[in-house]
Amino acid sequence: MISFHQVQKHYGSFHVLKDINLHIRAGEVVVVIGPSGSGKSTLVRCINQLETITSGELIVDGTKVSDRNTDLNKLRREIGMVFQHFNLYPHKTVLQNITLAPVKVLGIPEAQARETAMHDLQKVGIADKAGSYPAQLSGGQQQRVAIARGLAMKPKVMLFDEPTSALDPETIGEVLDIMKALAKEGMTMVVVTHEMGFAREVADRIVFMDQGRILEEAHPKDFYAEPREERARLFLSRIL
Ligand code: ADP
Ligand code: MG
Repeated sequence: MISFHQVQKHYGSFHVLKDINLHIRAGEVVVVIGPSGSGKSTLVRCINQLETITSGELIVDGTKVSDRNTDLNKLRREIGMVFQHFNLYPHKTVLQNITLAPVKVLGIPEAQARETAMHDLQKVGIADKAGSYPAQLSGGQQQRVAIARGLAMKPKVMLFDEPTSALDPETIGEVLDIMKALAKEGMTMVVVTHEMGFAREVADRIVFMDQGRILEEAHPKDFYAEPREERARLFLSRIL
């Protein structure tokens, strides 16, 4: 579903992604961890072309993302993204936040989009908040709306960039539970998170990044028990 071949990415003269080779199958859940500044967000943002790679090849669902001729809108329709800071439209209701893209981008009739949105809101457990505005919701609820918004586009891949880092501890669990359910339904997911419980339970693979490189890829059981790389060991000893 997602394939990085010798991908390099620079920000000006700064070499942020170094020789990335990563292959993610449909239905796989990959958790990306690593120190701040190691390139995790950049890696994930390249997948839906929020960032452009400098060289190498990146293929998503058979489409060469880096190709000039790639239809970016079509690509982004297939990839949902959830950020640390929800990024909901503050002046739109929960329901409007979810129906906006399906109506405007996919051309789905308003009534049908609303029906689907209600279904997605039920799925994330907050159908009763359809008429509320983001500011009236807790952080965990806002993040669940953001997930429902991503799902409304019926994506093939969902990307999560530290989706629980901005949440109060007591609302982290409600977001992780939704993500676990999504993983169990077979969604292909790339998740930047340091939530070890989540990673252990649902990740098929842990990818450890440091200074722009993938230093280690391992099954969570092996990784958390005993990472092979010294820098991964050091990193774990700091976050645990
Ligand atoms: P992480 O998500 O692991 O913290 P990022 O991918 O956000 O890492 O950033 C990796 C490095 O690239 C950091 O040193 C960061 O300062 C730098 N960086 C990120 N975005 C930009 C940008 N738009 N322009 C220049 N440098 C950037
Ligand atoms: Mg980041």
